[in-house]
Amino acid sequence: MAIKPALVRRDFLKLGSVATLGVLTDGLSTTMAAEAANPAPARLRYDCIVLGLGAMGSACIYQLAKRGASVLGIEQFDLAHALGSSGGISRQTKVAPYLGGPYEPLIRRANENWRALEKDSGQQMFHECGWLELAVNKQLSPAQAASAGTRIEMLDASALANRYPQFHNLPAGTNALLDHQGGLLRSELAIASHCHVALRHGAHIRAREVVMDWTSNEAGVTVTTSRGTYRAKHLVIAAGAWNVRLIPHLRDRLRVTRLSLGWFAAERPEIFKVENFPIWGHGAYYGFPELPDFPGVKVAKHWRGDPTAPDRMDRTPNASDEKLVRDHLAKHLSSANGTTLAFKVCMYTWGGPWLGPLPGVKHVSFIAACNGGGFKFSSAYGEALADLATDGKSELPIEFMNPI
Ligand SMILES: Cc1cc2nc3c(=O)[nH]c(=O)nc-3n(C[C@H](O)[C@H](O)[C@H](O)COP(=O)(O)OP(=O)(O)OC[C@H]3O[C@@H](n4cnc5c(N)ncnc54)[C@H](O)[C@@H]3O)c2cc1C
Repeated sequence: MAIKPALVRRDFLKLGSVATLGVLTDGLSTTMAAEAANPAPARLRYDCIVLGLGAMGSACIYQLAKRGASVLGIEQFDLAHALGSSGGISRQTKVAPYLGGPYEPLIRRANENWRALEKDSGQQMFHECGWLELAVNKQLSPAQAASAGTRIEMLDASALANRYPQFHNLPAGTNALLDHQGGLLRSELAIASHCHVALRHGAHIRAREVVMDWTSNEAGVTVTTSRGTYRAKHLVIAAGAWNVRLIPHLRDRLRVTRLSLGWFAAERPEIFKVENFPIWGHGAYYGFPELPDFPGVKVAKHWRGDPTAPDRMDRTPNASDEKLVRDHLAKHLSSANGTTLAFKVCMYTWGGPWLGPLPGVKHVSFIAACNGGGFKFSSAYGEALADLATDGKSELPIEFMNPI
C-alpha cells in the first residue's frame, strides 16, 4: 500500500535542500538531517506498530505497553503537535447525550480510562466542571430521565439566569440541561501522558518520522518510514485526517474539513474560571471555561467546516474564522467578547466513525473518521484497538463501528 506523501524528508536530503526542510515539512526541523541520514536501528519484530500518535494512537500504545506487548509508535510530527485534529488545549466530554445508545458503555469506559491515566501519569487532564446544554424547551430524553446514578439537572429559565448570568439575550423559552459528569479534557496533555506512560512501560516511539508504505502478508506487517523498515505481528492505523492517504479503502469515503477555535479575554475572568463555569453547548456553538494556565474563554462553532486536505490546509486563522464566533459572543456571551488571545485551526474527518480490522487485509486494524466528537472516546477506542491487536477481538461494544 504505497503512499505518496507530499513531502518526504529523504527526498529533500537527496536534493540537498536541507535548509528548506524545516519550513516545508511543517515542523520537521533541519536538526533532524543527521538522524535521517543515519537510520535508527530497528528491533526485528514488534508485537504491534501503531501508525500515528494523536488521540487514538497514543491511547493505543499506552494500552499495549501496559499489557507488556512490544510496541512501536510512529508519529510524523512532534508528539502532541497541533497540526492534526487534537490540538487546541481542550476538548469537551459529556455523558448525558449518549445515555440509552450504543455510545453509553464507551463513554463510561472512556471516563474510567481517563481517571486511570491521571493516576498513571500524575497529571490532571479531566476537569469535571459539568456540561450545560442550552436550548429552547430542552427536555430530558426517556433514557436520561430513567438513568440511575447519572447526575443530570434541568434548569428552567430563571434558574439558568441565576446560576449562569454570563449568558444573556436568550430566545424565549430557553432552558438548560446540566450534566454534572461532563467536563473538559486537556487534549495535548492527554496525548503526551499516554506516550509518557507507554514509554515507561517499554514502548518505542519514533517521532518526526513519516510512514510512507505498509504491507501485510500471512506472517505479519512491514512498515516503511522515512528512516527505516519495521516489522510486527499487527499494525494499527490511527492517522486521523491522513488516513485518506494511508488506507486505499477509504479514499472516497472520508472528507476532511477545516475548522477554527478562538480564545477571548473576559471582562471578569473569575466568573469564567473552570471552578465556576461549565463547558457548554448552545445550538451550533460551544465553549469552555478559562483554565488557570491558559488565558481566555474558548469558543467555537461545530459545523461541517470548509473542505480541505491535511497537507494543504490553510493553518492561518482569518477574519471570517473570527467573525463566525464573535457574532455569537456579541449576542449571547458579551462579557467574554474581549480581545482575541489565541486562534487555532483544526481538522474534522467525516465518514464513519469506523474502528475494526481492515476488511480483506490480514493483521491490520484501524480507526477513522472520528469527526468533531471523537476525542472524549479516545481512551476507550485505544483500549479496543489494543484488544484487536493482541486478542483479535474486544469485549467493548464496538460492533456498530465495524468498518465498511
Ligand atoms: C476544532 C475541533 C474541535 C473538536 N472538539 C471536540 C470536542 O470538544 N470533544 C471531542 O470529543 N472531540 C472533539 N473533536 C474531535 C477530536 O478532537 C478528534 O476526533 C480526535 O482528536 C481525532 O484524533 P485522531 O487520533 O484520529 O487524529 P490526530 O490526533 O490528528 O492523530 C493522527 C496522527 O497521525 C499522524 N500521522 C498521520 N499520517 C502519518 C504518517 N504517514 N506517518 C506518521 N504519522 C502520521 C498525524 O501526524 C497525527 O498526529 C474536535 C475536533 C476539532 C478539529
